[in-house]
Amino acid sequence: MAAAAESGLLGVLVPREYGGSGLDALCFAISIEELAQACASTAVIVDVHTSVGTEPILLFGDEDQKRRWLPRLATGEVLGAFALTEPSSGSDAASLKTTARPIGNGYVLNGTKVFITNVGRAGLYIVFARTGPDEKAAGVTAFLVPADARGVRVGQVFQKMGLHGSPTGELILEDVSVPAGNRLGGEGQGFTVAMRALDSGRIGISGQALGIAQAAVDEARALMRERGHGQGDDFVLADMATRLESARLLAYHAAWRCSHGRTFTRQASMSKLHCTDTAMQVALDALQIAGEAGAFSGSPFERHVRDAKALQIYEGSNQVQRIVIARDLVKAG
Ligand SMILES: Cc1cc2nc3c(=O)[nH]c(=O)nc-3n(C[C@H](O)[C@H](O)[C@H](O)COP(=O)(O)OP(=O)(O)OC[C@H]3O[C@@H](n4cnc5c(N)ncnc54)[C@H](O)[C@@H]3O)c2cc1C
Repeated sequence: MAAAAESGLLGVLVPREYGGSGLDALCFAISIEELAQACASTAVIVDVHTSVGTEPILLFGDEDQKRRWLPRLATGEVLGAFALTEPSSGSDAASLKTTARPIGNGYVLNGTKVFITNVGRAGLYIVFARTGPDEKAAGVTAFLVPADARGVRVGQVFQKMGLHGSPTGELILEDVSVPAGNRLGGEGQGFTVAMRALDSGRIGISGQALGIAQAAVDEARALMRERGHGQGDDFVLADMATRLESARLLAYHAAWRCSHGRTFTRQASMSKLHCTDTAMQVALDALQIAGEAGAFSGSPFERHVRDAKALQIYEGSNQVQRIVIARDLVKAG
């Protein structure tokens, strides 16, 4: 992470005036792809920090919030995290139960978030809580919650099947007071903040998937070169590489649309769906080519299979991506 900070990778999307690298969504996707080729855990730590953990401040923050947080996030002094999911609300995020009660010139937050990437390492959590009586999306508001605020606690940190280098766990909020100046966007705007953050986040997850798939293709190629190969292996490798290249073009296209101010919600969902399904399939195919050499614990082939699985679930499961794509298509007429 120190090396990533040094090379500007933690502030890719932050403009130079706030201490970042001032690059665009395509550069972001490629940077995550390159990291994931070597280590999918490092890639998701950086991805969550950069997109859903930092970008909402850029898009929805006031000038004070930008000046206070962006330079520290961009340089890696503070790691960012995004706390939306709760024990009883994952895909149906709008039904979240964490509350933010207005008291004096601020709010008091109570609730439990779960499966939070960078938990315990983050210095800042973007937390979504219910401020209004509306039980669905219109009652949700976003808050900037520093990790050292009184009442913020890390609960269980989970053992996952993959991505072992990336901490994922519970964030517990017990009577956490934040000033009104920590509200990100307006009251009731939180769901919009979350959905916009996830649109960009899905471009990053696409990059992570591409990196895992590229590593699996490269390891299969190297093995085939070393031990010889028949036509059966050739056909599998050709399909793996072709799938990967088509997924990459979809991801870069979504990133390009984002960078050029076009609508990109549907394209980001298509990209996330296709890239993560591709990573899973390509990782399994590579393991099959490797045979027993790929199946033992500690082999890179089995690691790619374990790492790829979570990508089909987080930042909106792939079923949820299909809902987003279909709704957008029907709406577009
Ligand atoms: C490693 C990891 C890291 C994570 N990091 C974060 C993080 O940093 N911040 C954060 O807020 N969250 C995070 N999450 C949570 C993640 O976003 C949720 O797991 C995800 O949104 C799915 O929610 P759920 O697990 O509650 O599954 P559920 O919503 O209970 O879904 C269970 C299954 O049902 C399917 N399903 C649900 N609704 C529908 C529907 N309407 N139609 C068809 N199928 C449906 C889902 O696709 C899934 O297969 C992380 C999760 C993991 C695994």
